Amino acid sequence: QAKKQGRSTYRFYTDALTRAAGEHLELEIRLRHAIGANQLRVYYQPQVDIANGHIVGAEALVRWQDPERGLIQPVNFIQLAEETGLIGAIGEWVLRETCRQGAQWIAAGLPFLTLAVNLSPHQFMRGNIVELVSKVLTETGFPADRLELELTESALMAQEEDAVKMLHLLRAQDIRLAIDDFGTGYSSLAYLKRFPLDILKIDKSFVDDIPFHQDDMEIAATIIAMGHTLGFKVLAEGVETAEQLGFLQAKGCDLYQGYLTSPPLPAAEFEKLLRKK
Ligand code: C2E
Ligand code: MG
Ligand code: MG
Ligand code: MG
Repeated sequence: QAKKQGRSTYRFYTDALTRAAGEHLELEIRLRHAIGANQLRVYYQPQVDIANGHIVGAEALVRWQDPERGLIQPVNFIQLAEETGLIGAIGEWVLRETCRQGAQWIAAGLPFLTLAVNLSPHQFMRGNIVELVSKVLTETGFPADRLELELTESALMAQEEDAVKMLHLLRAQDIRLAIDDFGTGYSSLAYLKRFPLDILKIDKSFVDDIPFHQDDMEIAATIIAMGHTLGFKVLAEGVETAEQLGFLQAKGCDLYQGYLTSPPLPAAEFEKLLRKK
């Protein structure tokens, strides 16, 4: 009896594993196809100057418009893209599309904006990012000093020496650099001091519980003060309420993004929002 049950349990698990591997592979094939089939979209989330409420930029965030499954959020495909290396092609597409759109907005006489693009650790470490960026800027005519690249702590820490060199090369082209999801990784102050960064983005998890958790409020305030000491501007992510905004304002935070102003929008809707101002 026990033996029989053991066998069927084993059978159950192998079936489940085979099924999971199959779904994984199917998703990979569909995603590979999506890039060439023009199914990726860039959404733009406003970045706001805390002092005066003006939209001064936007973060470019990728979505996958699947003809059968609808709009797929990055949480459902970025990790797979990272593991399979597909993020190289996706990231390059997002960078080019964002710069193309940015150049078009400038030509249309819209207010001067900074556009921020996320770089994955894979792109940063394996790709030839310095050359790629300068090629895309030349192709699209988007000004280098309007482009911001967002890197995570893990990308910077993995190969610290190379990272510092690459950041200096990007900086030499006038590109701005931001550290994303700050506070969730393992970067130490000593390392942070060595990276030539412009912006530090406080992770949303420290903003969420303002004004209810004293700990998070102290962490957020400390990150703002530390960022300023290191000469960076500080941007808070995921601001949803007026209370959160008020607290961050009082602590001297420079910029914010969040649903309080707007979720990420398709290019045409973001443009409408800009024209309304
Ligand atoms: P991220 O770079 O930290 O982007 C911020 C995320 O927070 C976005 O999620 C945005 O929609 C969300 N968010 C902003 N404000 C609020 C708010 O007030 N409330 C809530 N609940 N959420 C808010 P999204 O667009 O789903 O992107 C998730 C992550 O996927 C990004 O986190 C980034 O790590 C990654 N990602 C997105 N696009 C790209 C890309 O083109 N390349 C790479 N490598 N990663 C990307
Ligand atoms: Mg999302
Ligand atoms: Mg980001
Ligand atoms: Mg973030």
